[in-house]
Amino acid sequence: MTSYDFYSYESMSEKKKKAARKLKNYQKKQPNAQPILITGTKIATSFWGKTWCDHLKNYADYNNRIDRGRSYIKNGFVFDLTIEKGIIQSVVCGSGSELYQINIEIDPITEQRLVQQIDGHIESLEVLANGQFPKTLAETFLTNENGLFPNINEINFSCNCPDSAHMCKHISAVLYAVGAKLDLKPLLLFELRGIDTKALIKKSVEEKMSTLLENAYTSKSVRIIEEDAIIDLFDL
Ligand SMILES: [Zn+2]
Repeated sequence: MTSYDFYSYESMSEKKKKAARKLKNYQKKQPNAQPILITGTKIATSFWGKTWCDHLKNYADYNNRIDRGRSYIKNGFVFDLTIEKGIIQSVVCGSGSELYQINIEIDPITEQRLVQQIDGHIESLEVLANGQFPKTLAETFLTNENGLFPNINEINFSCNCPDSAHMCKHISAVLYAVGAKLDLKPLLLFELRGIDTKALIKKSVEEKMSTLLENAYTSKSVRIIEEDAIIDLFDL
């Protein structure tokens, strides 16, 4: 604890109350803001939200810094957070009353890469089509180093605070806030990697169909050979 922290010490509930007041003012100016408000003791509670938060610990280079924003999100300092294709944009309140703008860009991945990983297990895509994240694909997307969760070298971040050269508290808070957001909408993880889930489902099904047909035509089934012959006949 630095001396500055000591003299500016406030209890967690005081910080929360102060943040809530500031948020109200912010929302008057930005009525469409999407704040991240944690009600329990955990930042994320769903499988995908928790996995996202756990994954952040893999960013070893930032080990000393990655956890610094956890108290920020718990105290309600993340005033706005939106996720669009490959981009996270956020407004975080600093320990004074200043507001910081955070941008985090995540490299996109191709649908084809995921189609290969899904490898014909299209039954799990029905869950995806219903707007949920299939837990059956968890292992594929988690254990594979080319999975859905971004490596640190696939992330670029910026914050307009004086500490922005490194991973500041605000960036760390936003990365954890994404975990809380995934609790509510797990498919945002696909959005974040630039993947259109409908296109992913379509491609995976098409791939499965073509594999099935290929297997059928390379087998020695007499019936299929006959069908082939018939098609040839009609071509004539
Ligand atoms: Zn910052």
